Parts: sequence; C-alpha cells; structure tokens
Amino acid sequence: MQGPFRLDQNTVESKAKSRPGVYILGNNIHGTFVAKLTGKTSSDLNAALKKATGRFDSFYYEHAKDPGDAYQKECMYYHSYTDKGFRLENDGHPERPEGYDDIRCLQCGK
Ligand SMILES: [Zn+2]
Repeated sequence: MQGPFRLDQNTVESKAKSRPGVYILGNNIHGTFVAKLTGKTSSDLNAALKKATGRFDSFYYEHAKDPGDAYQKECMYYHSYTDKGFRLENDGHPERPEGYDDIRCLQCGK
C-alpha cells in the first residue's frame, strides 16, 4: 500500500493503472490521514479512484494480481481497521468477486 496521496484526477492518473487493485480513502485532518472507506476493484483501479474524487481528499492504493487477490488484500485492510473497533463507512465486510468462490478472507474465512 502506498500513500497517502492527494485524491485528485491528476494524481490518480499518475499513480493508478487500469488493473485490479485496492484502496483506502480518507481525509487529511491537520496532517494526519483519517481512513473512511476501504475498497477494491476487479478491473480498473484508475477509474475507481477517479470516481471517488470530491468525496474524500486523500488515498492509499495498491495494485493486485487479480480480483481474488484484490479481495484478500481489501479484507486485510478492512479487518486492520474494524477489528480494532475503528468505524469505516463500508457496508459491512468486503464482497467476494463473482467467480472466485474458492477464495476466502484470510482473517475471518468469509
Ligand atoms: Zn474477513
């Protein structure tokens, strides 16, 4: 995971490729990154981050090998916050991508 970076179109364009990946979105509060949301995409990290511009001001990102890898990576980041009681805006646990039924969350088995 790399970041935090400023969440704007130009920064996203220079960092994120049109490949599977994961991200953490949040805001810079007096110089400290405060996470709001973890996310993943099975196909296009560049597009997913561009869609989030305007909602938050900062992001971390990491490319993934494939949708299953993106799922497991997102789970890891999701759990690293929520298992400590930190509240994200996610609607619950990350969803496993279609066609990857044999992939499990390494933290909780979901
Ligand atoms: Zn899990």
